[in-house]
Amino acid sequence: MAKEIILADNAGFCFGVKRAVDMVAQYCSEEGVKVYTLGHLIHNTDVIRRLEERSIHAIKPEQIKELDPDSVVVIRSHGVTPQIYDLIKQTGAAVVDATCPYVRVIHKKVEHHYRLGYQIVIVGDQGHPEVQGINGWCANTAIITRDGKNLPDWDRARDICVVAQTTERLENYEQVLAAVKAKYKNVAAFNTICTATKDRQESAAWLGRQVDLMIVIGSKSSSNTRKLVEISQVNCANTVFAENRSDLPLDLIKQEQFTKIGITAGASTPDWVIADVIDAIRSI
Ligand code: SF4
Repeated sequence: MAKEIILADNAGFCFGVKRAVDMVAQYCSEEGVKVYTLGHLIHNTDVIRRLEERSIHAIKPEQIKELDPDSVVVIRSHGVTPQIYDLIKQTGAAVVDATCPYVRVIHKKVEHHYRLGYQIVIVGDQGHPEVQGINGWCANTAIITRDGKNLPDWDRARDICVVAQTTERLENYEQVLAAVKAKYKNVAAFNTICTATKDRQESAAWLGRQVDLMIVIGSKSSSNTRKLVEISQVNCANTVFAENRSDLPLDLIKQEQFTKIGITAGASTPDWVIADVIDAIRSI
């Protein structure tokens, strides 16, 4: 029986990631310019491989001091701390700032409220570079939480400012906000979850309920893709997480019981990888 393939309404590159990839592409064509990205530009191994083929390599923060003044450093969409801008400036290297404008808004809110004396609370993943970048705008003093269970017992009158990692789940943000409001009186809260994330999550949830099998495409290191997997699993008992065409479990997909196949992809998954996956399923 022929299989029906349905692509989620919102899938693949988001605005910020596309902007970052386009900004780097501009430099690929300029001969003799040494271009580096600070960390991998996006969480996608196919994109990283293509950049490396064009001699654009990722460097770690500890390598910044070795940069030549004639090199170019790309700051990825996750953003960085103010200390990183200072370090790059000291080397004389040029900066291409691909920080997503939505992330930049969080930096500004955090910096502003920190200066006013607020304690910053970030709803997000402590190990994620975006969260580490945000924390830098309040001198690394933020409390980072995803459930509100690790809030210290400060004075109830302390001013608290809550922001969220752009890819955080709304339920987590609401849970933390409720915990903060139960403990403290003066709370400035900003739901900084990006609509690109929300749109992808809602599309994945809806599509998951319509199909027999969901395929989520993206890198295992991409947190927003992993969240799409979690949401798909809640809404569709058969969910597959594949990085690209070669990662597809074709024997499973071939099974007759799967007549309607839903596809979604994380915000760091390029269109060509999605097209490739669809092509592989069509060829079954
Ligand atoms: S998910 Fe949203 S905040 Fe993050 S890079 Fe994409 S558009 Fe920007």
